Amino acid sequence: TLYWSKADGRARWTLYDRDRGADQLTRHLLATALRPAVERGEFVVEYQPLVGLADGAVHGAESLVRWRHPRYGLLSPDRFIPLAEESGAIVPLGKWVLEESCRQARRWLDEFPGSETFISVNLAARQIWDSDVVADVAEVLERTGLPTRLLQLEITESAILGPSGRPLQALQALADMGVRIAIDDFGTGYSNLAYLSRLPVHALKLDGTFIEAFRESAPGDGGRRRAADEQIVGAVVQLAHALGLTVTAEGIENAAQAERLRQTGCDFAQGWHFARPGAPDRIAEILRERPRR
Ligand code: C2E
Ligand code: MG
Ligand code: MG
Ligand code: MG
Repeated sequence: TLYWSKADGRARWTLYDRDRGADQLTRHLLATALRPAVERGEFVVEYQPLVGLADGAVHGAESLVRWRHPRYGLLSPDRFIPLAEESGAIVPLGKWVLEESCRQARRWLDEFPGSETFISVNLAARQIWDSDVVADVAEVLERTGLPTRLLQLEITESAILGPSGRPLQALQALADMGVRIAIDDFGTGYSNLAYLSRLPVHALKLDGTFIEAFRESAPGDGGRRRAADEQIVGAVVQLAHALGLTVTAEGIENAAQAERLRQTGCDFAQGWHFARPGAPDRIAEILRERPRR
């Protein structure tokens, strides 16, 4: 297909065929726009509270990136993180998110001394595989002045599994520095707790789909399926605790779910029931209204 490139005003042959056409093109345009957008500062970070189920207080926050696109408005990470991973732009973007998040967590610490609010930052596979993430983290902690103990990094199982020892070396080095490591989206992949327990991992984040049981009961089975699912979640929490891991459940949308989850002994919860992701001031407001004792 001959395709007219508006960017440089030249006609050129591209790989796009008619079938894959428009969607491919949009993806391509977004992907190539990512790096310059990082440099122009078009990204923003929102923060979602991580709530202790035992005391109802905010213990930490997850940082979630958004793209304030000049034409398409606020884009959710699902729209561009996969593209950023493919193109490699995730490396500079991820580093920017890390620094922005650590700087913010440092501000919360300054404003609320003793609050010990930690920041939990998502790390993409390519940051571990293709960049010196250990050096980047050390540099960012140094520059922002955030105590190492207040940084948690979230990675998925699939990002650390594989033939190479590189990710494990990086995890070990980060853990040795005192950074906490959380396994994100637990329950969607292999969910191999025996394997994970041998790694320098401190926490599990149960994916929203994993705790579906707490959302609604399956119709027509008298709640039996839900009861079984709740038992499974409870067992995973117990096993994780036995292995020395803390557990956070994602996607808690109402009080009933939060209460049933609390009964499993799960440590932290995150979800719209408590707060949606928002501006850093929202976290500060909560810390002011409800200080941790
Ligand atoms: P995640 O790390 O599993 O983050 C949790 C997602 O669940 C977030 O979606 C959050 O907004 C959403 N969520 C929170 N509470 C609820 C709830 O009660 N109900 C439902 N249905 N959803 C809830 P978001 O912000 O759209 O982010 C999507 C994914 O994008 C994240 O999933 C993470 O994998 C990725 N992501 C976000 N920021 C970054 C980043 O800075 N770097 C990297 N590598 N990935 C990121
Ligand atoms: Mg996450
Ligand atoms: Mg998650
Ligand atoms: Mg998830």
